[in-house]
Amino acid sequence: MPSNETVAGQPRRPARLLLAEDDPQIARALIRAFDRGGIATEWVTDGNLADATIAAPTARLDGAVIDIGLPGRDGIDVLRRLRARGNPLPVLLLTARDDMADRVLGLDAGADDYLAKPFEMSELEARVRALLRRGRHGDEPAAGLRFGRFWQPQGEPTLRLDGVPMDLTPREAGVLGVLLRRAGRVVSKSAVLQELAIDDPSAMDLLDPAVEVIVHRLRRKIEGSGVEIHTVRGFGYLLRERGG
Ligand code: CA
Repeated sequence: MPSNETVAGQPRRPARLLLAEDDPQIARALIRAFDRGGIATEWVTDGNLADATIAAPTARLDGAVIDIGLPGRDGIDVLRRLRARGNPLPVLLLTARDDMADRVLGLDAGADDYLAKPFEMSELEARVRALLRRGRHGDEPAAGLRFGRFWQPQGEPTLRLDGVPMDLTPREAGVLGVLLRRAGRVVSKSAVLQELAIDDPSAMDLLDPAVEVIVHRLRRKIEGSGVEIHTVRGFGYLLRERGG
């Protein structure tokens, strides 16, 4: 894994990852792989410890890999509690089986990604790299958002397409931003709302149909932009490059 990636030419400290996994064999294999990739891992074997570690003001974590089946407090509960505190820490959930109910529950609780055991180590490494690219929480602010022909300069609310400011309402810009940041992955409607609520707490009062209306309008506004918002029936959306 590449380490010390730079944003805007700034050198970065090594990534710090929390691993909450009660199976020592799996945990040791993961820690070795992360270590090779220049990622420092903090390992806990219990849900309560994971919760306390994430909540600690000194945590400075960049991401977390959390097993759902943990003693003390399960992984979904750990995730719910951290999202309830408004913590945007990127989280990948692990589960013992590819269970659709767990998957939906996990993504709804605010997981960024999900992987079922048994998994290929190379697959997990690739997912963790993507996870860490998504957020370097508690460090320097995230760089501007860029995807395809879209660009949102750092610290500016306006999304640009080919450099031209787009005509979007704040909520449309918020939803498109969420989907662009998670391009190529399925995002549930409730996850969209939770992410919107980080900057706009009143978004917590919106319901799924409000997201549908916003996405409907966005589809017209991004026509010809090279990306499309695909509906994943009964669940959410997937922004992807057209023809990709
Ligand atoms: Ca477990």
